[in-house]
Amino acid sequence: MILFKQADTLSRYLAKVHLEGKTTGFVPTMGALHDGHLALVESAKTNTDVTVVSIFVNPTQFNDPADFKKYPVSIDQDVRLLLEHGADILFLPSQTEIYPAGTGRPKQYELGTLESRLEGAFRPGHFQGVCQVMDRLLGIVTPDRLFMGRKDYQQCMIIEKLIRLEKFTTKLEIVNTVRESDGLAMSSRNMRLSARERSIAPSIYEALQYVKKNIQQGNQELLLAKAKELLAEHSFRIEYLELTDAENLEPVCDWDGKRGMVAIVAGFINEVRLIDNLPV
Ligand code: AMP
Repeated sequence: MILFKQADTLSRYLAKVHLEGKTTGFVPTMGALHDGHLALVESAKTNTDVTVVSIFVNPTQFNDPADFKKYPVSIDQDVRLLLEHGADILFLPSQTEIYPAGTGRPKQYELGTLESRLEGAFRPGHFQGVCQVMDRLLGIVTPDRLFMGRKDYQQCMIIEKLIRLEKFTTKLEIVNTVRESDGLAMSSRNMRLSARERSIAPSIYEALQYVKKNIQQGNQELLLAKAKELLAEHSFRIEYLELTDAENLEPVCDWDGKRGMVAIVAGFINEVRLIDNLPV
């Protein structure tokens, strides 16, 4: 695995890789790697010639500075895991490498209503920050394929939009959510759960499964209310739990029994914010 810290050196190296006719797969992460990230690496390795992984905790996507400060960092272990899983390149940039002009007056993107729904409503500015870092990273890496997790469903839709807006030729590949054996979606934030919090965390997945099992054509209000009750019983502080159209994440109140939907949830167990979703 080759380690790059500078954007222009990495770009020059990858230009040569492309000239040799090899394809590149890119897995952007914020580190504290787990099996969910490693599934993206595996998928990139299977589908492209050269796998590039980046680790950068992007300050502009944290609407809460305390959350940014508390974000887990485990770089030595991350390097070990990437070596074990055969990543070819690790990009480990500094903040000035990603934002040479600083973060004071960042570029803004026209993301439409998707930006202000669900995650966007509870984390103002979050998706602008995601687009700022991904625009820069895609410009540096110019990958043939980009591998991202379905766990961040809305983020995947935002990145599809960014790719269209900025006319990148990269193809987005969405990889299924990797879960613990009790159903909890793997997340770097799970490390911050105490033993007691960890024991109740799978209730998020249980609530989504409850929705999936019990959904019927027609109005969904009662079903969602029951799923919310389930979560509240476990002291989960819900920010949102919605049934949404899988194509555009608009809320679905009356289901025609046909169109694809996603049940999507976010909230806190004490201080730790968790999100998850399930296709219905
Ligand atoms: P993060 O480091 O949290 O920014 O995540 C980096 C990438 O890993 C994103 O594309 C996430 O959607 C993806 N990811 C995070 N958790 C999982 C998971 N449990 N299963 C699959 N992909 C995941």
